[in-house]
Amino acid sequence: MSQKAATGLDKHVLINGEWVDAADRTDVIHPYDGELVGSVPMVSDQQVVEAIDAADAAVEASSLSAYERYELLSETARLVEERLDDIAHILTSEQGKPLSEARGEVDRAVQTLELSAEQAKRMTGEYIPMDAQKGFARDHCFTQREPLGVVAAITPFNFPLNLMVHKVGPALAAGNAVVGKPATNTPLTSIALFECLDDAAAAIDADVPDGLFNVVTGSGSSVGDVILDHEAVEAISFTGSTGVGKYIANNSGMTEVTLELGGNDPTIVWDDTDLQEAAVQVIGGACSNAGQVCNSVERVIVPEHIEDEFVDALVEACQNLVVGDPFEEETNVASMVDDSQFEDLVDLFESTVEAGATVECGGNYGGDLGPRTFEPTVLTDVDPEMPAAAEETFGPLVPVITVADFDEAIAEANNTNYGLEAGLFTQDIDRAKRAADEIDAGGVNINTVSGFRADHMPYGGFKDSGVGKEGIKYAIEHFSREKLVGFHQG
Ligand code: NAD
Repeated sequence: MSQKAATGLDKHVLINGEWVDAADRTDVIHPYDGELVGSVPMVSDQQVVEAIDAADAAVEASSLSAYERYELLSETARLVEERLDDIAHILTSEQGKPLSEARGEVDRAVQTLELSAEQAKRMTGEYIPMDAQKGFARDHCFTQREPLGVVAAITPFNFPLNLMVHKVGPALAAGNAVVGKPATNTPLTSIALFECLDDAAAAIDADVPDGLFNVVTGSGSSVGDVILDHEAVEAISFTGSTGVGKYIANNSGMTEVTLELGGNDPTIVWDDTDLQEAAVQVIGGACSNAGQVCNSVERVIVPEHIEDEFVDALVEACQNLVVGDPFEEETNVASMVDDSQFEDLVDLFESTVEAGATVECGGNYGGDLGPRTFEPTVLTDVDPEMPAAAEETFGPLVPVITVADFDEAIAEANNTNYGLEAGLFTQDIDRAKRAADEIDAGGVNINTVSGFRADHMPYGGFKDSGVGKEGIKYAIEHFSREKLVGFHQG
């Protein structure tokens, strides 16, 4: 028998080592059927200030060695793994992704925490050979890395555990204190992470100061403005929409900022590849988490002469997906996270069809499928200027755009203000090399779809998709500063 959404998860926030409530609270609902899952505080501005002040004091007081930071993060990884089923259940309850995907996200978070723990031991500097400069042969210089101080971690709804771990793991590994701010509609999974951190701090044999990690929940704009105004915040690591990212960029002054923003990622499928295999990967890459993935396949670009054959393969792969209750084990695609995401997707779909696109499969939404569920949908006769091709859809829509040749394919891939990732299926090394050189995106993936990310590699977009890199090692560079130390012979 399948599980049901959690209920009664009425949680507090962690400020300066205490789990506390606020005067106002907000409900968290299960997206698939609207069931009440629980509630969290809507923190006041004063509480956000208290969390930042506590983090600032903690980072001053902290004498944690690299080994102790390793222990804190590896014990947190162990506790998250111990709670894998529980946290996956919370994640599906509040976010609505299929339980199998939720388990995958928790499992990945364990690995991300383990990698962060290991990386805490590798905050190395560089020896600078001074004999490279005339007259300084007897001098010695090296660099050392130091934590920045307070890091604010602001995350979106679509991967509420993993995206928080991508920030909190490296920030703590580098010796910083953290204030986490999860999305308002999916705060409970992040709170579970901070519970594990809190338990880990109590379990290890080290003096972890109160306030080293805090989590606040509430209105994004209110919490965000306090974070932007507080002088003790040395770095803001934001993942979310491009609009909010630009607001942060415009108001963050001298604060170090990492922005992981939206995407309209192309995947080119060329005629020299296995079309059946490419179709399965494209549909998987477009429809996992109901398409609510920043680097999902947003646009498929194919040469005109293979369109019919490839669209047949796409339709077949699409029809193999099971749409339904995220707690059913066989479900591949469940609901959108909330009414606003669902309604935006419906508008985008309807306006694209009105503009002349053809629905090859899918196209149903709401009703018996569930109030916020949208069927995986393949669209052809898509003009690049139609909404489903020109905008980030953040839903299970697969618009197919045809091109005459590879020059046009590259131009079409770059026909967007975004530049997160891209995919190309080909067996031709010259085409692969051209795509790598000419596609203006933070990552170009050959023989897979756009949506590829592993935690030890640099990850981050160009253009409107962001600034800076994540990936544990690279995030540590953003969350630390490099100091030069010189020993001179006088
Ligand atoms: P969102 O921008 O609405 O919210 C993200 C976070 O910012 C939430 O915690 C929200 O409460 C907070 N926020 C809102 N207003 C704020 C403000 N004025 N100041 C500070 N914080 C504020 O994004 P969303 O709808 O939750 O997520 C979807 C978007 O995230 C999509 O555009 C997607 O592409 C993007 N995303 C990008 C990546 C990436 O790695 N590039 C990963 C996941 C999601």
